[in-house]
Amino acid sequence: MASLNLSLECDSEMAMLKQMAFICNCQGTWLFTVPPTSSISQAAAAARVPPVSETETRTIFDKIIAKEIPSTVVYEDDAVLAFRDISPQAPVHVLVIPKSRDGLTELGKAGKRHEEILGRLLHAAKMVAEKEGILEGFRVVINSGPSACQSVYHLHLHVLGGRQMKWPPG
Ligand code: AMP
Repeated sequence: MASLNLSLECDSEMAMLKQMAFICNCQGTWLFTVPPTSSISQAAAAARVPPVSETETRTIFDKIIAKEIPSTVVYEDDAVLAFRDISPQAPVHVLVIPKSRDGLTELGKAGKRHEEILGRLLHAAKMVAEKEGILEGFRVVINSGPSACQSVYHLHLHVLGGRQMKWPPG
């Protein structure tokens, strides 16, 4: 079981910590993201972001969509956002997500109504590969559920490339 030991010396450090999001990946590595920069208007960001329904828990990706935490955007349209993975597993490692989760916490939860967005996500993955210059060979991965080591419960496609891939995957 992974643990995290931090020594906090003052209230301001505690306040900053509360704004950081920590996740632990399948390899037991802790990842964290930084608080929002003051230059970003959260009201403006919220205005262009589809609301998360009251029954859905916000994830770190909702904060990225809302620009509450920074990301390096590679591709964006009205329905899809693609940004660089914070812990890249290949020279190119981009995550492609739907801006509106609409129950798609994982691929295993997909229903008939999601057919269009699933197609949009795959097409966006191809657009990312083209932009990143890896159309000649790339891999698209979706981890769905705990056995597949999914760590963020907002459907996302991993677009990986820029090196020779191996098979079978781990
Ligand atoms: P999965 O394990 O399939 O759920 O993938 C989640 C991915 O999200 C991992 O590859 C993480 O490195 C990535 N990730 C987590 N937080 C961030 C972040 N703030 N910015 C970019 N990628 C992130």
